[in-house]
Amino acid sequence: MSGPEPAALRPTPGEGAPPAPYDILFEPVAIGPLVTRNRFFGVPHCNGMGYRDPSAEAALRKVKAEGGWAVVCTEQVEIHPTSDITPFIELRIWDDQDLPALALIADAIHDGGGLAGIELCHNGMNAPNLYSRETPLGPQHLPVASYGYDPVQARMMSKRDIADLRRWHRTAVARSMQAGYDLIYVYAGHGFGGIEHFLSPRFNQRTDEYGGNARNRMRLLREILADTREVAAGRAAVACRITVEQGLGEAGLGRGHIEEILGELGELPDLWDFVLGSWEADSNTSRFGPEGEQEPCVTGLKQLTSKPVVGVGRFTSPDTMVRQVKSGILDLIGAARPSIADPFLPEKIRTGQLAAIRECIGCNMCVSGDFTMSPIRCTQNPAMGEEFRRGWHPERIRPRDSDERILVVGSGPAGLEAARALGVRGYQVVLTEATRELGGRVARESKLPGLAAWARVLDYRQQAIAALPNVEVYRESRMTAGDIAQFGFQHVAVATGAAWRRDGVARWHTQPIPVEPGADVLTPDDIMAGRRPAGARVVVYDDDHYYLGGVLAELLRGEGFEVDIVTPAAQVSAWTVNTMEVGKIARRLLLAGVTLRTSTALTAVGTGKVTLASAYTGQLSEAAADCVVLVTARLPNEDLFQRLTQRPERLASVRAIGDAWAPGTIAAAVWSGRRYAEEFGAARPGHDEVPFRREVTRLHADPAGPPHPAPATREEAS
Ligand code: ADP
Ligand code: SF4
Repeated sequence: MSGPEPAALRPTPGEGAPPAPYDILFEPVAIGPLVTRNRFFGVPHCNGMGYRDPSAEAALRKVKAEGGWAVVCTEQVEIHPTSDITPFIELRIWDDQDLPALALIADAIHDGGGLAGIELCHNGMNAPNLYSRETPLGPQHLPVASYGYDPVQARMMSKRDIADLRRWHRTAVARSMQAGYDLIYVYAGHGFGGIEHFLSPRFNQRTDEYGGNARNRMRLLREILADTREVAAGRAAVACRITVEQGLGEAGLGRGHIEEILGELGELPDLWDFVLGSWEADSNTSRFGPEGEQEPCVTGLKQLTSKPVVGVGRFTSPDTMVRQVKSGILDLIGAARPSIADPFLPEKIRTGQLAAIRECIGCNMCVSGDFTMSPIRCTQNPAMGEEFRRGWHPERIRPRDSDERILVVGSGPAGLEAARALGVRGYQVVLTEATRELGGRVARESKLPGLAAWARVLDYRQQAIAALPNVEVYRESRMTAGDIAQFGFQHVAVATGAAWRRDGVARWHTQPIPVEPGADVLTPDDIMAGRRPAGARVVVYDDDHYYLGGVLAELLRGEGFEVDIVTPAAQVSAWTVNTMEVGKIARRLLLAGVTLRTSTALTAVGTGKVTLASAYTGQLSEAAADCVVLVTARLPNEDLFQRLTQRPERLASVRAIGDAWAPGTIAAAVWSGRRYAEEFGAARPGHDEVPFRREVTRLHADPAGPPHPAPATREEAS
């Protein structure tokens, strides 16, 4: 039996005019020899796939082009083995061997209807060259400015090195055109592009014609822009991505510098792409900055060049986008994260489906893919990164293949996404929620300080479900195994979530810790349910290491409690190094007056005091505490699941999904809901098989042959 067609969100391109207030966003823009179909510009962004998973990246980029982004760019593409940022996995254009993968991506973008941009990059002293073992190159003899405190120093570039760099860049431009790219970047931003190090007085104290005054510091950028133009020869457009504010005061690049650069070089590229400082600053999370945070730093720069400008700002509101264009700040609306959360954002604006926009929540789970060298993932868009390997699409899902009726128990992110996606497939779905409020942990956590935007996970799914007549939602309906039998459901997805433990078990302690009777112990569930410590002195014990410990410390401090945050890790909220928040969290807590006790474990909870142990020596100490908030591990709420699986009269299928199966992130819960819906009714591979497509490195044609002929070493050459 075949079900109804899935809701088609993509009308034929060109069909219908965009709604009047937003028509300005659909005007073409000339970028050198190119003309875009609208003002939506998918800026370069990392994805944890790069050279390892090129087919997966091609599929990802194609979906964005399909969704209406006029230009879709690659992430940074290392132009040479001296620009190797291992362990991060980006693209490479080191020699012709890299061209098939790069061409595949460009072709995919073209297939989707977009123009293909490539972000060429020589990482300079940002590249530790751990794979290539070449000597990093920088304006000065300095330790590499990489994320890992790598024990590697960059060597001050000689004139010969500069000539080499220019030649490598020219070759990379020629190869990019060979691979089919329409727009070619010169990268001097985010502290990644080595050219930025030359621009910045912080890194460039050279005394030759490439250092000293501003004109000398911009010489390398001028030369590489001119080289790129020359090789592109009007057949590809040239973009320059540049940091407009390093946030370092006089020591770094600031407004005066960028104005000077635009005054000198403003007409050299065909497009300026303005970014704010480091990647952490530019891709700020919603916990630390609002939409459009870059605006004050970018305003007025467009007036210094006749070339179009693009910039980002986690833009999801079409009204904000229109204002950016009308007020002369930007010509093109740049997006990385909003295009990850909703690759079809432009099409939804064009077709007036604003309520269907899946707005980025600003959590930086996507960034964690790059930082953990794993394929990108997104809290809002579970199809992100799964386009190739699992065949998921952000807007389409195959129609149902039976008339089954499915019960989804629990309306957290897992249950909501399962119900929504099953509903789009055309199944009859009943979603039940024990409480009055939908959203589970998302509804609760989004009321905590800084996390309001996370409610968008619920908002998007709630509106989507409301538009599906085949999905019924019942609130205040706690389901038991008996209810399920009574109503005759045959297929049940149990999405009942998880509960925070109150016995101290997590990573440090895998057995419960001693808690004196009468001690005031709270869990995050208690705090979110409105309970508060009885006394003033609170220890928040964080052995979870993601955001919640820090957020609860912030909440309680804001309410006037004296808060110590204790964690066995060396940093508070240690995993947020992967969302680029770890430093911001420590700063916020310290400024609020929270005491940070890192590398310290909680070993016992007494009344009025706690016992602590050094994570390194085990040495014990005591600290005063009227209450302990345990942010440790969670246990799945799996009672219903267990009862259903143990029932004598077996259901046709029962599965626990999301936190009810194994507690994890919100992104993991959404993904789990989507997976359930995708796989429902499908023949599933056995547990011994790899459940997705993957690419395996092609073996060298002659592994036993002579090694690559060695060129003259760089040392010999200079
Ligand atoms: P997940 O992250 O896996 O989606 P959440 O903890 O966010 O899990 O959500 C679980 C939801 O399930 C909560 O809103 C909770 O109230 C609801 N729930 C738990 N048990 C039942 C039940 N037996 N019947 C209906 N709803 C339930
Ligand atoms: Fe936005 Fe979070 Fe998705 Fe990244 S992971 S695109 S920040 S919702």
